[in-house]
Amino acid sequence: MTEPSLFTPEILAAAQRAAMPDFTRWREMVRATGGCAQPIRLQGHRITFDSGLEVLDVYRTRDEPTGYLLTSCGNRRASRCPACSEVYRDDTYHLILSGLRGGKGVPEDVSAHPRVFATFTAPSFGAVHSSRQKDGKVMPCRPRRDGPVCEHGRPEACGVRHGDDDGQVGQPICVDCYDYAGAVLWNAHAGELWRRFTQALPATFARHLGVSRAALRRQLRLSYAKVAEYQARGLVHFHAVIRLDGPDGPAGSPPGWATVPVLQDAIRETAGSVMVSAPGFLGRWGTQLDVDPIYVADSLDHLGDLRVAGYIAKYATKGAESAGTVDRPIRQLGDVARLKVTEHARRMIYTCFGLATDPAYAEVPLRHWAHMLGYRGHFSTKSRHFSTTLGALRQVRADHQADKARERRGLPEPGDKQTVTVGQWRFAGAGLRHGEHLWVEMIRNQVATARQIERERRRNQAD
Ligand SMILES: [Zn+2]
Ligand SMILES: [Zn+2]
Ligand SMILES: [Zn+2]
Repeated sequence: MTEPSLFTPEILAAAQRAAMPDFTRWREMVRATGGCAQPIRLQGHRITFDSGLEVLDVYRTRDEPTGYLLTSCGNRRASRCPACSEVYRDDTYHLILSGLRGGKGVPEDVSAHPRVFATFTAPSFGAVHSSRQKDGKVMPCRPRRDGPVCEHGRPEACGVRHGDDDGQVGQPICVDCYDYAGAVLWNAHAGELWRRFTQALPATFARHLGVSRAALRRQLRLSYAKVAEYQARGLVHFHAVIRLDGPDGPAGSPPGWATVPVLQDAIRETAGSVMVSAPGFLGRWGTQLDVDPIYVADSLDHLGDLRVAGYIAKYATKGAESAGTVDRPIRQLGDVARLKVTEHARRMIYTCFGLATDPAYAEVPLRHWAHMLGYRGHFSTKSRHFSTTLGALRQVRADHQADKARERRGLPEPGDKQTVTVGQWRFAGAGLRHGEHLWVEMIRNQVATARQIERERRRNQAD
């Protein structure tokens, strides 16, 4: 009888990877990507000249022990790449926070502008199981004394106490009563409904003031940042920060009459009136609409700027997978039966494929977005003047990385000298190879811990 090995095949593969001659350099590159789970391998070269066309530096992947350079995938979804989604979440957090507190090019006075955190919900397309909690106790799902049954002979009541993580939550009480066509058409039009809302909101202000849109724009501007979130029932919600600025954006104060209650009323009125339609379908927001003021500091009974920035950043890294579906496109109808999704999500996906064949919905790209349960909008969007951009935050990081790389290679600082860099790159593959998973996971944890320590340190300094 042979002794069972202490080492799993995964550990043996990791040990083999570590024995390869390029390992040290490879590990350095993985560290530079932050522990990206699906890094991209590039081959090529980069030449840096000064203004007199004198060559300052030549970098060739051919000279690397690995033969390639790794770059991070940059995916925002935690389900695809934990490392890159962490970076995305951080950037989104700072983007939102600078729109609430100032900083990163936004004046600090912006914190005095009226602003709210609003949640726009979807209407109901049929009863679903839900986790109902009251005073910290889980309550029965849908208690009914009279024990009614629907036309399909199924009970309309449910006495089960579902916890938050119960897989039943969000699933219909009766799949035949549930309006699947309505649900996917709502998702498909939610982005357009939001767009109409953002256009109609200034019109609401103008109407109440009795001025034209152009006259309004001379004293007031609206800024927003919004993010989509999938609910367990497979419908999208939008969470948004909506802010009032002066005519020049965040730098100018809005007029005195523009207060938080005025903004709250205008949002409610506008949300109640906008709609979008398709054959046999009329899309409006659900009746539940929360519009809360955002305070400068968080407290137990106040929603503060840090918490709002945290919420939006968290939602921004999630996708439709939180509604029990898959995070990539579905090529063929035949694949749907085999997908690892909830039965509810599967029915929504089938409904997307089904409606896509109906000429009435030829304009609605349901098939392509079936994996998103019909939603085709962006996960996070913001108006131009809200704050800084993700691109600007990425540039700061890229510059920092370039500085570090220059130091490592012992190159002088460019100083005032104008330099020109030309490069030529080709895609040489993506993802991890044999024995690399364990190392990448370990490096990602190290990077995350280092970041956590850095955050703690900064917090202690601030106190
Ligand atoms: Zn990545
Ligand atoms: Zn139930
Ligand atoms: Zn039924």
